[in-house]
Amino acid sequence: MDIPRIFNITESAHRIHNPFTPEKFATLGEALRLEPETRVLDLGSGSGEMLCTWARDYRISGTGIDMSQLFSEQAKLRAEQLGVADRVEFIHGDAAGYVADEKVGVAACVGATWIGGGVAGTIELLAKSLRTGGIILIGEPYWLRLPPSEEVAKGCGAGSISDFLMLPDLIGSFGDLDYDVVEMVLANQDGWDRYEAAKWLTMRRWLEMNPEDDFANNVRAKLTSEPKRYAAYTREYLGWGVFAVMGR
Ligand code: SAH
Repeated sequence: MDIPRIFNITESAHRIHNPFTPEKFATLGEALRLEPETRVLDLGSGSGEMLCTWARDYRISGTGIDMSQLFSEQAKLRAEQLGVADRVEFIHGDAAGYVADEKVGVAACVGATWIGGGVAGTIELLAKSLRTGGIILIGEPYWLRLPPSEEVAKGCGAGSISDFLMLPDLIGSFGDLDYDVVEMVLANQDGWDRYEAAKWLTMRRWLEMNPEDDFANNVRAKLTSEPKRYAAYTREYLGWGVFAVMGR
């Protein structure tokens, strides 16, 4: 079981697989006023940076589930590196339908809401693991500017304009689900650059190391087109943030 190979190549050197920086995750952890020993569940935990740094800085404990074998292994190494391997656990698996045995104070899905079939379904799934009064975290893109055409939306990597909302509408959609938005931390263009531009050097190095690989043409085509695509579309049109919500 694994995610498509292209992500395991392009994001193999990433610690954070979204437009957040280490500072943004620290800001978010502080904003949530996490108490020591709070249990945190993270569906689509990637390379584990959020759980590992929060375990180090805020003494939380946590469980992450991720379908990438590579990212899950990197998460375990990161936990050891930061001295928090006794506080956080990483499971390699499909997080769809995952419900924690023991209820958690924070249930998160940061940049992987397809796991629950979209934002609403993911909130419903996370709520099953949440203790009363707990906080749900959703990391999700939104339109900074509405794309003038479906072509521009596709250029941003979206299936269509309707895949994402403008920020006020995204915030409003949590209210429609009967949730209060109680905090948010938004990414910025520098964060987007770290997420997207870091893939380019990783692809270039991978191509140098794997010229004969069946996948090399694929990666070559992507490295050729990505920088311009990103600058023309994603960087201009797409925002991204983590929203903390609590049931009303
Ligand atoms: N939350 C992490 C990773 C976000 S990227 C971070 O902030 O860094 C999305 C992640 O979802 C990837 O790590 C990918 O491997 C994982 N993923 C995709 N489909 C999944 C599924 N069905 N179950 C669990 N993880 C999944």
